[in-house]
Amino acid sequence: MNQIPIRELMTQEVLCLAPETSLDTVIQQMCENHRSCIVIVEGCLPVGIITERDMVNVLARPEMRLSASTLLASDVMASPPVCINEDASLYEALVITQARRIRHLPVVDQDDELVGLLSQGDIAGAHFHAIEQQREIIEQQIQERTSELVEANEELKALSLQDALMGIGNRRAMEVDIQFTHSNARRYHRPYCVALLDVDFFKKYNDHYGHQAGDEALKKLAKCGQKAIRTSDRLYRYGGEELLLLLPETRVEDAITVVGRVLAALEEENIEHCESTFGHLTVSAGISAVVRMEKNDGLQWQNVIEEADQKLYQAKSGGRNRLCWQLAETPVES
Ligand code: GH3
Ligand code: MG
Ligand code: MG
Repeated sequence: MNQIPIRELMTQEVLCLAPETSLDTVIQQMCENHRSCIVIVEGCLPVGIITERDMVNVLARPEMRLSASTLLASDVMASPPVCINEDASLYEALVITQARRIRHLPVVDQDDELVGLLSQGDIAGAHFHAIEQQREIIEQQIQERTSELVEANEELKALSLQDALMGIGNRRAMEVDIQFTHSNARRYHRPYCVALLDVDFFKKYNDHYGHQAGDEALKKLAKCGQKAIRTSDRLYRYGGEELLLLLPETRVEDAITVVGRVLAALEEENIEHCESTFGHLTVSAGISAVVRMEKNDGLQWQNVIEEADQKLYQAKSGGRNRLCWQLAETPVES
């Protein structure tokens, strides 16, 4: 706004008269041209200004009223006029008109010659326009920043390794871990196990105790899981109310022990679940154990998870609150 030169804001042509013009003519010119102000000039130099306000002041004095027909512009004009240079800014014009309580500013060039007139209306209009522009710029910046923030947040999410609710590894991190574990196990012919754990009757738990309580129960389950596993084991949220436990360098007997400990820890937590056949919250688990892979083994990590899932299904259909296991087998190509 400070930068807008007032040269661009002048909307009025200036009505100029000489100092020796009669007051009658001044009034007549103002009426005919619908102007609220006349600039009095000598040549091109402004020497005075007559505004409606000046006229009212003159006519308010009885002695002036009596001699009105003989008065000249020079008798009533305010002189010298407050002028502003055409290179001045809107802001300067605003300050000058506000500070001096004037409504018209003759605009002059470098040689002090009159080039236009700036009215309070021009200034107010430009000021309002500048504020609007500024507001649009700010709004645009906010919009840009907001989408930048959303993008940054998405990137942050993508970089996140943890599940926000359960405070354990998320699925994305799990995939990286299991892929790495699987290829190492293949390269060095090492064993590893995968366990899938799923909360029993959890829909009923939510329906009965509410989703919020369901969230709390999931947090407790994650804590129990973390406490029960060894430092070399990794617990991930696989989805909804399902966890995936990755046990590198582990044979099936040890996996059974560790997963059994998770089930027992949850049992001990004794989270009431009156809609469950067990009366408290329980999980079922399926374990798949990789024993030894050869370098060209076709077994993929996805197959290992699928087999753990099949065992989980078996644990569910077998009555829940239990674990089932199997040794991972390379799928036969059809
Ligand atoms: P099953 O014993 O066969 O596993 O039965 P289920 O009710 O546990 O299984 P189902 O797949 O029918 O329902 C899973 C429920 O888990 C439904 C879903 O609303 C709930 N769930 C999934 N994620 C969350 C979560 O983050 N918070 C809460 N509170 N509930 C969740
Ligand atoms: Mg489930
Ligand atoms: Mg379930």
